[in-house]
Amino acid sequence: MSLENIKKETKYIFVTGGVASSLGKGIISASLAKLLQARGYSVTIQKLDPYINIDPGTLNPYEHGECYVTDDGAETDLDLGHYERFLNISTSQANNVTTGRIYQRVIERERKGEFLGRTVQVVPHITDEIKRRIRILGNEGRYDIVITEIGGTVGDIESLPYIEAVRQLKYDIGQNNSLFIHLTLVPYMKASGELKTKPTQHSVKALLENGVQPDILVLRSEFELTDEVKHKVALFCNIDREAVIESIDVPTIYEVPLRMLAQGLDVVAMQKLHLPIREINLDKWKLFLDRVKNPETSVNIGLVGKYTELPDAYKSITESFIHAGASNKARVNLKFIDSTKITPENLVELEGLNGILVAPGFGDRGIEGKITAIKYARENNIPFLGICLGMQCSVIEYSRNVLGLKDATSSEFDSPSKNCVIDLMNEQKEITNMGGTMRLGAYDCKLTKGSKIYEAYGKEEISERHRHRYEFNSEYRDILEKNGMIAVGINPNSELVEVVEVPSHRWFVGVQYHPEYKSTAVNPHPLFVAFVKAAIEHDKDNK
Ligand code: GLN
Repeated sequence: MSLENIKKETKYIFVTGGVASSLGKGIISASLAKLLQARGYSVTIQKLDPYINIDPGTLNPYEHGECYVTDDGAETDLDLGHYERFLNISTSQANNVTTGRIYQRVIERERKGEFLGRTVQVVPHITDEIKRRIRILGNEGRYDIVITEIGGTVGDIESLPYIEAVRQLKYDIGQNNSLFIHLTLVPYMKASGELKTKPTQHSVKALLENGVQPDILVLRSEFELTDEVKHKVALFCNIDREAVIESIDVPTIYEVPLRMLAQGLDVVAMQKLHLPIREINLDKWKLFLDRVKNPETSVNIGLVGKYTELPDAYKSITESFIHAGASNKARVNLKFIDSTKITPENLVELEGLNGILVAPGFGDRGIEGKITAIKYARENNIPFLGICLGMQCSVIEYSRNVLGLKDATSSEFDSPSKNCVIDLMNEQKEITNMGGTMRLGAYDCKLTKGSKIYEAYGKEEISERHRHRYEFNSEYRDILEKNGMIAVGINPNSELVEVVEVPSHRWFVGVQYHPEYKSTAVNPHPLFVAFVKAAIEHDKDNK
């Protein structure tokens, strides 16, 4: 790609990590993006993941936490969720690229003969493809700044082609148009009572070996860093003193942008990118943060799922509760409840809750526990929200216990000869590939006036993101409706049932889609807001 193709105004920020993984590159990237956005710049963030999977769609949540889904149906890394929640913008497939995808394209081109007989190599072919992917967002001409977060840790074999690609990119687009931020860990040695900077120095050295001098260092630490420590790091790593920023643990991730602002991370970035320093407006953010930190009331909501020891598996749901709690001036005490442990004889975990959410999921593990929890919520008039598999389980529960179809089930985990109230659509029955074969991304849905869900959204037409294979089996719609479970949200094109409600219950809603993917800090999702409100009312009525 030639230089002319790059929109002159787009600046690129590259974020790398060193010393250890899980330092929170995503949060730092999102925080810097938030500050630049609040100064009037249009910003997007991209994540490059150095693993060979084409996308995280086929990854077990134990490996990388939740799989986040974008409007255009991309199954992506959970960091994209942070980007959207912080920036209140939509991301897309272009915002998440894996090594698998890079190689896939290069190999496809090789098979087509596009390399004209040349030897296809990591440098330049893989690195060129990485550069092309980074520039795709910039070339759209929509963004003043593109922040690219490189997954993994500097020094890993997998990360090398990425570091080389961004080194070249800086060379291609010029010093003033790009910026390197490196995030490291400064560990505390209890025995000597010291904060140690040597791992940071080594990590910067590893970057230098690859031809990259970072412009800004962000140091993760459990404790505040003294000026002396910051000076030392600046001197040894060849970084301006004001470009050494500390990032200490804070009670909520939503505070990180303000911590970064206080140290001038955004100002240093703008200076180094030769961008004018504009006024900042963070009013909405501050209002939200103030409500998160100073709730007037609290409610207890149970999240029933099978990954309870792994909160990252339900990241978007837990964040949605923070947003919806703030909007209700309440703190949501979220209790993770292991669905595999719930039985009709063991319901103690469900006692005292003001709301029960049954989580999305795949496979049969924990299903009976989810169904039991739904029965408990339904019979005890506790506000209930079922998401995706949670909605499907609510249909199974109702069919079994209200309609009396004792063998009601889903063909995902049971024999098709039973009453499969949840089933595949006919055209899906041929599919054998696991990756990318689900109903993914945004679909329209029409809500019935007068329903709880309509009341929550305040409008009839909505669009929400999906990630599932199985559907409400419409053959059972009539009998369910006659017995009190009503389909109140329908896809206007396919007629598929997207939302069910039990109007005789105080608040019982199941949605086939994933509302949690669209909740953001300054724009909490209406369904979560309504659910938390119902939980607050339940709490009041039961005091
Ligand atoms: N396993 C169910 C399906 O594929 C639900 C998926 C989900 O909860 N995301 O339809």
